[in-house]
Amino acid sequence: MNSDRILTGKNALITGSTSGIGLAIAERLAAAGCNIGLNGFGDEDETLALIDRISAQYDVRAAYFGIDLRDVVDIGDGLEAYQQEIGRIDILVNNAGIQHVCSFADFPIEKWNEIIAVNLSAVFHCSRLVIPGMVTNQWGRVVNVASVHGLVGSIDKSAYVAAKHGVVGLTKTIALEYVRSGVTCNAICPGFADTAIIRKQIRDKSAAENQSSEAVIGAMLSDKHPSGQFIDPAEIAALTVYLCSNEASGITGTTLSIDGGWTAQ
Ligand code: NAD
Repeated sequence: MNSDRILTGKNALITGSTSGIGLAIAERLAAAGCNIGLNGFGDEDETLALIDRISAQYDVRAAYFGIDLRDVVDIGDGLEAYQQEIGRIDILVNNAGIQHVCSFADFPIEKWNEIIAVNLSAVFHCSRLVIPGMVTNQWGRVVNVASVHGLVGSIDKSAYVAAKHGVVGLTKTIALEYVRSGVTCNAICPGFADTAIIRKQIRDKSAAENQSSEAVIGAMLSDKHPSGQFIDPAEIAALTVYLCSNEASGITGTTLSIDGGWTAQ
Protein backbone atom coordinates (compact mmCIF):
# COMPACT_ATOMS: atom_id res chain seq x y z
CA MET A 1 0.00 0.00 0.00
CA ASN A 2 1.19 3.51 -0.81
CA SER A 3 2.29 4.98 2.56
CA ASP A 4 0.22 8.13 1.89
CA ARG A 5 -2.91 6.01 1.53
CA ILE A 6 -3.12 5.31 5.26
CA LEU A 7 -6.92 5.31 5.37
CA THR A 8 -7.56 2.92 2.49
CA GLY A 9 -10.70 0.90 3.18
CA LYS A 10 -12.13 3.41 5.67
CA ASN A 11 -15.37 5.30 5.11
CA ALA A 12 -15.86 8.89 6.24
CA LEU A 13 -18.77 11.30 6.46
CA ILE A 14 -17.80 14.96 6.57
CA THR A 15 -20.68 17.30 7.40
CA GLY A 16 -20.67 20.71 5.73
CA SER A 17 -18.16 19.63 3.09
CA THR A 18 -19.50 21.40 0.00
CA SER A 19 -17.14 24.30 0.72
CA GLY A 20 -14.36 25.69 2.88
CA ILE A 21 -12.76 23.65 5.66
CA GLY A 22 -15.06 20.64 5.19
CA LEU A 23 -14.19 20.36 1.50
CA ALA A 24 -10.46 20.60 2.30
CA ILE A 25 -10.91 17.80 4.86
CA ALA A 26 -12.86 15.65 2.40
CA GLU A 27 -10.13 16.05 -0.24
CA ARG A 28 -7.36 15.20 2.21
CA LEU A 29 -9.21 12.14 3.53
CA ALA A 30 -9.81 11.01 -0.06
CA ALA A 31 -6.11 11.54 -0.83
CA ALA A 32 -5.39 9.22 2.12
CA GLY A 33 -7.52 6.56 0.41
CA CYS A 34 -10.74 7.02 2.38
CA ASN A 35 -14.19 6.73 0.78
CA ILE A 36 -16.10 9.89 1.48
CA GLY A 37 -19.60 11.18 1.97
CA LEU A 38 -20.03 14.86 1.27
CA ASN A 39 -22.76 16.94 2.87
CA GLY A 40 -23.84 20.57 2.88
CA PHE A 41 -25.76 23.07 0.80
CA GLY A 42 -24.80 24.13 -2.70
CA ASP A 43 -25.59 23.97 -6.38
CA GLU A 44 -26.63 20.43 -7.32
CA ASP A 45 -24.66 20.26 -10.59
CA GLU A 46 -21.52 21.62 -8.92
CA THR A 47 -21.85 19.10 -6.10
CA LEU A 48 -22.26 16.20 -8.51
CA ALA A 49 -19.23 17.40 -10.48
CA LEU A 50 -17.28 17.61 -7.23
CA ILE A 51 -18.11 14.01 -6.34
CA ASP A 52 -17.07 12.81 -9.79
CA ARG A 53 -13.80 14.74 -9.63
CA ILE A 54 -12.86 13.56 -6.12
CA SER A 55 -13.75 9.97 -6.90
CA ALA A 56 -11.67 9.96 -10.12
CA GLN A 57 -8.74 12.00 -8.77
CA TYR A 58 -8.22 9.92 -5.62
CA ASP A 59 -9.62 6.56 -6.77
CA VAL A 60 -12.13 6.34 -3.91
CA ARG A 61 -15.89 6.11 -3.63
CA ALA A 62 -17.60 9.45 -3.12
CA ALA A 63 -21.26 10.28 -2.67
CA TYR A 64 -23.34 13.25 -1.60
CA PHE A 65 -25.89 13.21 1.24
CA GLY A 66 -28.08 16.30 1.29
CA ILE A 67 -28.89 16.12 4.99
CA ASP A 68 -30.24 19.32 6.53
CA LEU A 69 -28.55 19.17 9.91
CA ARG A 70 -31.26 21.32 11.50
CA ASP A 71 -33.65 18.38 11.11
CA VAL A 72 -33.13 15.34 13.33
CA VAL A 73 -35.30 13.09 11.13
CA ASP A 74 -33.30 14.10 8.06
CA ILE A 75 -30.08 13.25 9.93
CA GLY A 76 -31.37 9.74 10.68
CA ASP A 77 -32.53 9.20 7.09
CA GLY A 78 -29.27 10.55 5.68
CA LEU A 79 -27.12 8.30 7.83
CA GLU A 80 -29.29 5.33 6.80
CA ALA A 81 -28.74 6.30 3.14
CA TYR A 82 -24.97 6.46 3.77
CA GLN A 83 -24.98 2.89 5.16
CA GLN A 84 -26.89 1.70 2.08
CA GLU A 85 -24.66 3.47 -0.40
CA ILE A 86 -21.19 3.35 1.14
CA GLY A 87 -21.39 1.14 4.23
CA ARG A 88 -20.42 1.57 7.87
CA ILE A 89 -19.02 4.93 8.93
CA ASP A 90 -15.49 4.69 10.37
CA ILE A 91 -14.75 8.41 10.47
CA LEU A 92 -17.23 11.12 11.34
CA VAL A 93 -16.12 14.71 10.89
CA ASN A 94 -18.66 17.04 12.46
CA ASN A 95 -17.70 20.17 10.58
CA ALA A 96 -20.84 22.02 9.41
CA GLY A 97 -21.29 25.39 11.03
CA ILE A 98 -23.11 28.69 10.68
CA GLN A 99 -22.68 32.10 12.25
CA HIS A 100 -24.76 35.15 13.08
CA VAL A 101 -23.07 38.27 14.42
CA CYS A 102 -25.25 40.42 16.69
CA SER A 103 -25.17 41.81 20.21
CA PHE A 104 -26.48 39.53 22.96
CA ALA A 105 -29.28 42.01 23.74
CA ASP A 106 -30.64 41.90 20.18
CA PHE A 107 -29.82 38.31 19.27
CA PRO A 108 -32.79 36.88 17.28
CA ILE A 109 -34.26 33.76 18.89
CA GLU A 110 -34.57 31.94 15.54
CA LYS A 111 -30.86 32.53 14.86
CA TRP A 112 -29.98 31.22 18.33
CA ASN A 113 -32.04 28.06 17.69
CA GLU A 114 -30.56 27.52 14.23
CA ILE A 115 -26.95 27.94 15.37
CA ILE A 116 -27.43 25.60 18.34
CA ALA A 117 -29.12 23.05 16.00
CA VAL A 118 -26.39 23.02 13.33
CA ASN A 119 -23.27 23.76 15.38
CA LEU A 120 -24.07 21.71 18.50
CA SER A 121 -27.17 19.47 18.40
CA ALA A 122 -26.21 17.97 15.01
CA VAL A 123 -22.87 16.93 16.53
CA PHE A 124 -24.83 15.08 19.23
CA HIS A 125 -27.26 13.46 16.76
CA CYS A 126 -24.67 12.37 14.17
CA SER A 127 -22.35 11.04 16.87
CA ARG A 128 -25.05 9.13 18.76
CA LEU A 129 -26.19 7.43 15.54
CA VAL A 130 -22.71 6.60 14.23
CA ILE A 131 -20.65 5.66 17.30
CA PRO A 132 -22.43 2.33 18.08
CA GLY A 133 -21.25 0.95 14.70
CA MET A 134 -17.71 2.12 15.44
CA VAL A 135 -17.81 0.33 18.79
CA THR A 136 -18.95 -2.90 17.11
CA ASN A 137 -16.05 -2.52 14.68
CA GLN A 138 -13.66 -1.64 17.55
CA TRP A 139 -12.32 1.30 15.55
CA GLY A 140 -13.65 4.77 14.99
CA ARG A 141 -12.68 8.43 14.78
CA VAL A 142 -14.89 11.40 15.58
CA VAL A 143 -13.32 14.74 14.73
CA ASN A 144 -15.30 17.82 15.69
CA VAL A 145 -14.38 21.06 13.96
CA ALA A 146 -15.06 23.42 16.86
CA SER A 147 -13.31 26.79 16.91
CA VAL A 148 -11.12 29.04 18.96
CA HIS A 149 -14.58 30.17 20.06
CA GLY A 150 -14.90 26.81 21.81
CA LEU A 151 -12.13 28.01 24.11
CA VAL A 152 -12.53 31.78 24.39
CA GLY A 153 -15.34 34.27 23.85
CA SER A 154 -15.79 37.24 21.53
CA ILE A 155 -18.43 39.94 21.58
CA ASP A 156 -21.49 39.66 19.31
CA LYS A 157 -21.14 35.89 18.81
CA SER A 158 -23.11 34.55 21.80
CA ALA A 159 -24.84 31.61 20.08
CA TYR A 160 -21.72 30.56 18.16
CA VAL A 161 -19.47 30.77 21.23
CA ALA A 162 -22.02 28.88 23.36
CA ALA A 163 -22.41 26.16 20.71
CA LYS A 164 -18.66 25.76 20.16
CA HIS A 165 -17.97 25.59 23.93
CA GLY A 166 -20.72 22.94 23.98
CA VAL A 167 -18.94 20.97 21.24
CA VAL A 168 -15.72 21.02 23.26
CA GLY A 169 -17.54 19.73 26.35
CA LEU A 170 -19.36 17.05 24.35
CA THR A 171 -16.04 15.98 22.79
CA LYS A 172 -14.53 15.33 26.23
CA THR A 173 -17.54 13.36 27.47
CA ILE A 174 -17.78 11.17 24.35
CA ALA A 175 -14.01 10.54 24.52
CA LEU A 176 -14.22 9.36 28.12
CA GLU A 177 -17.29 7.18 27.62
CA TYR A 178 -15.64 5.32 24.71
CA VAL A 179 -12.04 5.46 25.87
CA ARG A 180 -11.54 1.66 25.81
CA SER A 181 -13.54 0.94 22.67
CA GLY A 182 -11.10 1.89 19.89
CA VAL A 183 -13.08 5.06 19.25
CA THR A 184 -11.47 8.47 19.74
CA CYS A 185 -13.15 11.85 19.77
CA ASN A 186 -11.27 15.13 19.47
CA ALA A 187 -11.98 18.77 18.69
CA ILE A 188 -9.97 20.98 16.36
CA CYS A 189 -10.13 24.67 17.26
CA PRO A 190 -9.23 26.83 14.26
CA GLY A 191 -8.73 30.56 14.26
CA PHE A 192 -9.84 32.59 11.22
CA ALA A 193 -9.72 30.76 7.89
CA ASP A 194 -10.62 32.57 4.67
CA THR A 195 -13.89 30.76 3.83
CA ALA A 196 -17.51 31.71 3.09
CA ILE A 197 -18.45 32.01 6.78
CA ILE A 198 -15.73 34.61 7.35
CA ARG A 199 -16.18 36.38 3.99
CA LYS A 200 -19.78 37.20 4.95
CA GLN A 201 -18.57 38.72 8.25
CA ILE A 202 -15.95 40.73 6.36
CA ARG A 203 -18.55 42.00 3.84
CA ASP A 204 -21.03 42.94 6.59
CA LYS A 205 -18.41 44.74 8.67
CA SER A 206 -16.97 46.51 5.68
CA ALA A 207 -20.47 47.78 4.70
CA ALA A 208 -21.39 48.74 8.29
CA GLU A 209 -18.12 50.61 8.91
CA ASN A 210 -17.62 51.91 5.37
CA GLN A 211 -14.15 50.36 5.18
CA SER A 212 -12.44 48.31 2.50
CA SER A 213 -12.44 44.56 2.99
CA GLU A 214 -8.61 44.73 3.15
CA ALA A 215 -8.85 47.14 6.09
CA VAL A 216 -11.37 44.89 7.87
CA ILE A 217 -9.18 41.81 7.34
CA GLY A 218 -6.10 43.67 8.53
CA ALA A 219 -7.88 44.74 11.73
CA MET A 220 -9.32 41.25 12.34
CA LEU A 221 -5.95 39.57 12.00
CA SER A 222 -3.97 42.11 13.98
CA ASP A 223 -6.58 41.96 16.76
CA LYS A 224 -6.70 38.13 17.06
CA HIS A 225 -3.90 36.41 15.11
CA PRO A 226 -0.34 37.21 16.22
CA SER A 227 0.77 35.38 13.05
CA GLY A 228 -0.98 38.05 10.95
CA GLN A 229 -2.15 35.28 8.60
CA PHE A 230 -5.35 33.36 7.99
CA ILE A 231 -5.26 29.63 8.77
CA ASP A 232 -5.08 27.53 5.61
CA PRO A 233 -7.95 24.96 5.52
CA ALA A 234 -5.41 22.47 4.13
CA GLU A 235 -3.59 22.58 7.48
CA ILE A 236 -6.82 21.79 9.34
CA ALA A 237 -7.37 18.94 6.89
CA ALA A 238 -3.87 17.55 7.47
CA LEU A 239 -4.45 17.60 11.22
CA THR A 240 -7.74 15.76 10.71
CA VAL A 241 -6.03 13.01 8.73
CA TYR A 242 -3.43 12.65 11.48
CA LEU A 243 -6.17 12.34 14.14
CA CYS A 244 -7.76 9.62 11.99
CA SER A 245 -4.53 7.64 11.70
CA ASN A 246 -3.67 4.64 13.85
CA GLU A 247 -0.73 6.61 15.28
CA ALA A 248 -3.23 8.96 16.94
CA SER A 249 -5.09 6.24 18.85
CA GLY A 250 -3.91 7.67 22.19
CA ILE A 251 -5.18 11.17 21.43
CA THR A 252 -8.74 11.51 22.67
CA GLY A 253 -10.87 14.10 24.43
CA THR A 254 -8.50 16.87 23.53
CA THR A 255 -8.72 20.23 21.80
CA LEU A 256 -6.11 21.06 19.18
CA SER A 257 -5.81 24.76 18.45
CA ILE A 258 -4.65 25.85 15.02
CA ASP A 259 -5.01 29.57 15.43
CA GLY A 260 -1.84 31.53 14.58
CA GLY A 261 -1.23 32.14 18.28
CA TRP A 262 -4.70 33.54 19.15
CA THR A 263 -5.21 31.51 22.34
CA ALA A 264 -1.58 31.83 23.45
CA GLN A 265 -2.12 35.51 24.22
P1 NAD B 1 -18.34 27.42 5.14
O1 NAD B 1 -19.48 28.36 5.24
O2 NAD B 1 -17.52 27.42 3.89
O3 NAD B 1 -18.84 25.92 5.37
C1 NAD B 1 -19.97 25.59 6.13
C2 NAD B 1 -20.54 24.30 5.59
O4 NAD B 1 -21.67 23.93 6.42
C3 NAD B 1 -21.08 24.44 4.16
O5 NAD B 1 -20.82 23.25 3.43
C4 NAD B 1 -22.58 24.59 4.38
O6 NAD B 1 -23.36 24.20 3.26
C5 NAD B 1 -22.78 23.64 5.56
N1 NAD B 1 -24.03 23.84 6.27
C6 NAD B 1 -24.53 24.98 6.80
N2 NAD B 1 -25.75 24.76 7.32
C7 NAD B 1 -26.03 23.44 7.12
C8 NAD B 1 -27.14 22.61 7.42
N3 NAD B 1 -28.23 23.07 8.03
N4 NAD B 1 -27.07 21.31 7.05
C9 NAD B 1 -26.00 20.82 6.40
N5 NAD B 1 -24.92 21.57 6.09
C10 NAD B 1 -24.94 22.86 6.45
O7 NAD B 1 -17.43 27.74 6.40
P2 NAD B 1 -16.13 27.01 7.02
O8 NAD B 1 -15.23 28.05 7.50
O9 NAD B 1 -15.60 25.99 6.09
O10 NAD B 1 -16.77 26.31 8.30
C11 NAD B 1 -16.57 24.95 8.62
C12 NAD B 1 -16.52 24.80 10.12
O11 NAD B 1 -15.35 25.44 10.62
C13 NAD B 1 -17.70 25.43 10.87
O12 NAD B 1 -18.12 24.58 11.92
C14 NAD B 1 -17.11 26.69 11.43
O13 NAD B 1 -17.79 27.12 12.58
C15 NAD B 1 -15.70 26.23 11.73
N6 NAD B 1 -14.73 27.30 11.88
C16 NAD B 1 -14.49 28.17 10.85
C17 NAD B 1 -13.56 29.17 11.03
C18 NAD B 1 -13.23 30.15 9.94
O14 NAD B 1 -12.60 31.17 10.24
N7 NAD B 1 -13.59 29.92 8.70
C19 NAD B 1 -12.89 29.30 12.25
C20 NAD B 1 -13.16 28.40 13.26
C21 NAD B 1 -14.08 27.40 13.06
